[in-house]
Amino acid sequence: MKKYNFYAGPSILPQFTIEETIKGLKNFAGTGLSIAEVSHRSKEFDAVIEDAKSLFKELLKIPEGYSVLFLGGGASMQFAMVPYNLMNKKAVYVNTGTWSKKAIKEAKIFGEVVEVVADDFFSLPKNIEVPSDADYIHITTNNTIYGTEYKDDFDFDIPLVADMSSNIFSRPIDVSKYDIIYGGAQKNLAPSGVAFVIIKDEILGKVNREIPTMLKYETHINKNSMFNTPPVLPIFAAYQTLRWIKNLGGLEALQKMNEEKAKLLYDEIDRNPFFEGTVAKEDRSLMNICFVMTEEYKKLEQEFLKYATERGMVGIKGHRSVGGFRASTYNALPKEAVEELIQTMQDFEAEHLAD
Ligand SMILES: *Cc1c(COP(=O)(O)O)cnc(C)c1O
Repeated sequence: MKKYNFYAGPSILPQFTIEETIKGLKNFAGTGLSIAEVSHRSKEFDAVIEDAKSLFKELLKIPEGYSVLFLGGGASMQFAMVPYNLMNKKAVYVNTGTWSKKAIKEAKIFGEVVEVVADDFFSLPKNIEVPSDADYIHITTNNTIYGTEYKDDFDFDIPLVADMSSNIFSRPIDVSKYDIIYGGAQKNLAPSGVAFVIIKDEILGKVNREIPTMLKYETHINKNSMFNTPPVLPIFAAYQTLRWIKNLGGLEALQKMNEEKAKLLYDEIDRNPFFEGTVAKEDRSLMNICFVMTEEYKKLEQEFLKYATERGMVGIKGHRSVGGFRASTYNALPKEAVEELIQTMQDFEAEHLAD
C-alpha cells in the first residue's frame, strides 16, 4: 500500500534527496568511495559544504556579513549556545509552546529572562514590547507541536534570534531582520543529525564570559563548520534538498505550494462536521496542521486514527501534549498526500453520517 508520510520530524524528504543520497552512499562524487567513508577534509566534501552554504545564501537571499554553519547537537543545543554567546544580563523570550519553553529553561542559566506569553498556546502574541536594555529577543517562528506560525517577519530594535526548525525554506524571509536563525534540519531539509545556524557576525564578541570551544560560534565560523568532524552524511543530504528547492523555482514556488496544500486541508477541517481546528485561524501553521474531532464525535477519535492508518496515512496522531491529529505538510509532502487525507476524512464522514 502507498504510504503518505505526515510525520512531524524526522519527516518526509524529497524523493530527489533520497535518490541522490543513495547514489552518494554508493559512489560519492566519482571517488569510488561512499560519502559515509570519506574524510571531511577531502576536497570533494569541502565542495559539498561550500555549495550547500552558497545555496543557503542564494535561496534565502542572505545579505553580506552573515555566516552559515552546519553543527551537531540539533536545535536543542542552540537553546544553550544562543544565550551562552549573546546574553550578558537579560533577554526576551516569546513563549509560544513546548520548544520555546525548552529554550527559556536554558537561557535562565545565563541571565534574566523576560517572558512574553500568549493566553494559551493556541494563538500567538503579536504586539510585543521589548525593553531596550535586553540583549536580544528570541522567537519560535513555527510551533511544531501546537501548529501555530508567525507568517511575517518582525522588526525589533534589539537583536532578533529565531528558531526556524520547522518552517525554514517554506517561504521567503527577510534575513536582514534577524541576527541568528537556527534549527534542526530534520523537519524540512535533511535526516536528523545536523543543525543549521545563520548568524550575523557582528553580534558576536559582546559577552564577557568564557565559552567552551565547541559552544562558541566563532570557533565554527573560523573553521567553516569543520573545527571537528561535522555530520557529513546529513550535510550531504541537506545539500541535495537545497538543489531540489532551487530546481523547483526557489522559495516563492514552495510558498505557493505550501499555501495551497494548507488551504485545502484547513478548508476540509472547517467544512467537515466531524473535525475542527485547534488554533486561532490567523495563526494557523502551514507546516503542522492540528485538528481534533468535534465534541459530538470525540469518541470516534481512535476509530478515525485506525481508519486513516489503514489507508496509508502515517504519523497523523497529534503530539501527546495536544491530542487529536497533526498532519505535517512540509515542503516535500506532495499535494496528492493532502488530497488523500481529505478523501479519507470525507469517506469517514460519509460512512458515519449514514449510521
Ligand atoms: C524539532 C524542534 C526542535 C528540536 O530539534 P532537535 O534537533 O531535536 O534538538 C526545536 N525547535 C522546534 C521548533 C522544533 O520543531
